[in-house]
Amino acid sequence: MTTLTCCNYIDGQWLSATQTLLSRNPTNNEIVATFPRSDSADVDVAIASARKAYRSWRQVPAPARAEYIFRVGELLLQHKEELAQLISREMGKAITEARGDVQEGVDCAFYSAGEGRRLFGQTTPSEMPNKFAMTMRMPIGVCALITPWNFPVAIPCWKAMPALVCGNTVILKPAEDTPACATKLIEIFQQAGLPPGVINLVHGLGEEAGKALVEHADVDLVSFTGSSETGAFVGETCGRTHKRVCLEMGGKNAQVVMEDADLELALDGAIWGAFGTAGQRCTATSRLILHRDIKEKFTTMLKERTSKLRLGSPTDPDTDIGPIINQRQLERVKMYLDIAREENAKVLIGGEIADEGELKNGYFFQPTILDNVTPEMRVAQEEIFGPVVALIEVSSFEEAIAILNDTNYGLSSSVYTRDINRAFAAMRDIEAGITYINGPTIGAEVHLPFGGVKQTGNGHREAGTTALDVFTEWKSVYVDFSGSLQRAQIDNRS
Ligand code: ADP
Repeated sequence: MTTLTCCNYIDGQWLSATQTLLSRNPTNNEIVATFPRSDSADVDVAIASARKAYRSWRQVPAPARAEYIFRVGELLLQHKEELAQLISREMGKAITEARGDVQEGVDCAFYSAGEGRRLFGQTTPSEMPNKFAMTMRMPIGVCALITPWNFPVAIPCWKAMPALVCGNTVILKPAEDTPACATKLIEIFQQAGLPPGVINLVHGLGEEAGKALVEHADVDLVSFTGSSETGAFVGETCGRTHKRVCLEMGGKNAQVVMEDADLELALDGAIWGAFGTAGQRCTATSRLILHRDIKEKFTTMLKERTSKLRLGSPTDPDTDIGPIINQRQLERVKMYLDIAREENAKVLIGGEIADEGELKNGYFFQPTILDNVTPEMRVAQEEIFGPVVALIEVSSFEEAIAILNDTNYGLSSSVYTRDINRAFAAMRDIEAGITYINGPTIGAEVHLPFGGVKQTGNGHREAGTTALDVFTEWKSVYVDFSGSLQRAQIDNRS
């Protein structure tokens, strides 16, 4: 297949760079694209372009800004298959999931664009006569969007679309593994006719282009999704340089299966949650907390179904599980299997790199079930980001919830039970940003808040109307039409 040439997109121009990097297809290692290894000088130009465009973009009425995003949504629909094929090729997720990745961008476009005609503020009575009080959402300015490879279209859309509707200008720094997906996406924004400088694309390494963006004095906000380690750096730097910051980091999501659950339903959920996208979702199910009364039966069912999952090329419709994103990540998954064995977890199925036949050309890992896992083990605490699920046995609902909560993370969670009282107790007591009852840990919808508690995030939520809280600040406005000085914060009533 042809090698694509990706460029930076700055001030409405596609610009190449002197140094380039390569992205590869994780299924067969073919080169997918060359892309710029941008340095701080490239970042400076992109920020200057976004700053210049901000002056006029913020003045464009929000419904008119939103019109561009509606057009992006329509274009995404038109180019859905082409984009999905590219996602499967460059990132490796199964083609049906790749289509879902694009569809999420479409949903986000139409949802965010609808906000152009809302962006509601409030009016409220003043404490004084002949005085009017209201609140307005204000854009923040130049936003750096730093994104990972696992949702190469959906996550940039989640960030860019509400940011733009709110009147900000943006610079996207996509992950090194998926530059071609990001480039195609930005081409669509360009086709939608966005004015130059409103959306910019800067490719490159995290420690170079990414770091330069985060440290730059003329960036007002950073929205980051990625690893906890990088998130700590981003948060610390933004704190020091007084930037707004939204962080979306790791998870160690659990699905609880109680003794009264519909086991077939719970099984479908567990397979999809643990092995969908080869376990490379921040909401992936990496722990299954099983009541002891059903543990043996459920484990047998799980093992049998797992043994039937087919690894292979993501564009083959028969494939259940595609590759791991790259060699480094594959080795990391393997390292966690070594840790699991040292910790005396039992590998029930899988546990190895899959390299038979065609698979040897890519980065495949067998779907893996670890049994005899106890809550304090590293494989029960640390994010693995691969097709590996740890089974933990419990004796009661209370114990299940306590173990579910016993991690530093708090993104997604799930409980399978037919007991309504337990379901409501779970909603109340689980420490997570997302809780599913009788559904798997994955499957967020764009009009609900997305994000996590504890070390998963920093208190913000993406998607939903909550995205507006990331990308705007409130202004309180008082209009005094009394014609005289009315003094607040003075006791007028004495
Ligand atoms: P992953 O383990 O998923 O690659 P990272 O946190 O390393 O997670 O990467 C997520 C995004 O953060 C990528 O776009 C990457 O280039 C970027 N990134 C990595 N390191 C830094 C850094 N020091 N400063 C800013 N961005 C970074």
